Amino acid sequence: MTINKKLCPAGLKNNPNRALKSLDYITIHCTGNRNATATAANHANYQLGGSGGNQTSWHYTVDKDSIWQSFEDKRECWHAGNATGNATSIGIEICVNDKSGFKAACENAAWLTAELLTQHKLAIDKVVQHNHWSGKNCPAELRSGEWGVTWIDFIASVKRYLDAKGGTASDDILIISPAAAGYLQAEAWAKSMGATDTFVSLARKYWDYAPARGEVNPVIAFCQSALETGYGKFKGVLDETYKNPCGMKTTKGGSDDDSDAHQRFVSWEDGVKAHLEHLALYAGAAGYPLKNSYDPRHFPYLLGTGKTLKTMAAGWCPGNPNYALQVKGMMDKVAAMKAEHTQSVAKLTPEQIITALAGKVTIASPDYWVGVLKGNTIVNCDYLTTLFARLAGFDV
Ligand SMILES: [Zn+2]
Repeated sequence: MTINKKLCPAGLKNNPNRALKSLDYITIHCTGNRNATATAANHANYQLGGSGGNQTSWHYTVDKDSIWQSFEDKRECWHAGNATGNATSIGIEICVNDKSGFKAACENAAWLTAELLTQHKLAIDKVVQHNHWSGKNCPAELRSGEWGVTWIDFIASVKRYLDAKGGTASDDILIISPAAAGYLQAEAWAKSMGATDTFVSLARKYWDYAPARGEVNPVIAFCQSALETGYGKFKGVLDETYKNPCGMKTTKGGSDDDSDAHQRFVSWEDGVKAHLEHLALYAGAAGYPLKNSYDPRHFPYLLGTGKTLKTMAAGWCPGNPNYALQVKGMMDKVAAMKAEHTQSVAKLTPEQIITALAGKVTIASPDYWVGVLKGNTIVNCDYLTTLFARLAGFDV
């Protein structure tokens, strides 16, 4: 498609006259103006006229036929209702002047979004709603789906355009990104693949330990572990006694076929923590490198050298060009497993947890739980202990 331009000059009341602080997001809006004349071109004219003297501006307006750009990508606009959103994102307004043309307008906006993601090397999870910044019900028609296109549909369209471009953004994924599945899905998937019982039991550990380790995506880590260990069957030089979930080598390192070059961990817990801390280091997580890490190869020079699955894979396993693809294929299967009762505990609010526990355990007196939190009372369930300790803000 053609991107038409009517750039707003400096000095207009709607122009903040400054550069973006950084270009990290694309913010999607719906205009909210259902008049037939509220086309993309007319919105561009409105902005060129100074937005009626209001501090209101955005980068692109899209309708069923056309795209109009009003500000350069790297300039700030006033569209997010929030200083961070304004200073770090490109705003796209989708016109709602024509209900029957809304689907086409969304397609055009998805095409534009894919173009911008590619151009600015952003991953698809950087596409956010106006609601993300200010809580406003915008893009209203996409949020409600009332005109036949939901937010999920929109993101799927963006992905389709990225794939059609052969772009890198959609088939890659940030190491630090939300998990698309809970540990029960991961366990179910591992079982379906004939994994060992020990390997299946690692899923919970990955999901439990990842939040405190740079919020590394546990699905990536668990699937990588499946690849590295052959679902716990260890056909290479390692076996279960190493408690090494990721083929981690010793600090000194050595050849892939030298069993002495591989780390022996005291416990599977330590092995999983080491793996996650190694990934967090690659991802450049805040606070890394750690002063004390379970990771025997916690070399500062690795910091931030593999922020995505593909770049991490290139560093971790340069000999296998399909490594990232194999991990991604596994991840898609985990996410496709039945999602019953699989909400990640780490993401639950205390209210949700209390609801989930209702009828399953007896909630004893508050003093009882205070004892649990302080570690004075042993609950006969590791899971609950972990859960309540995490609620209290402990790193477990
Ligand atoms: Zn909006």
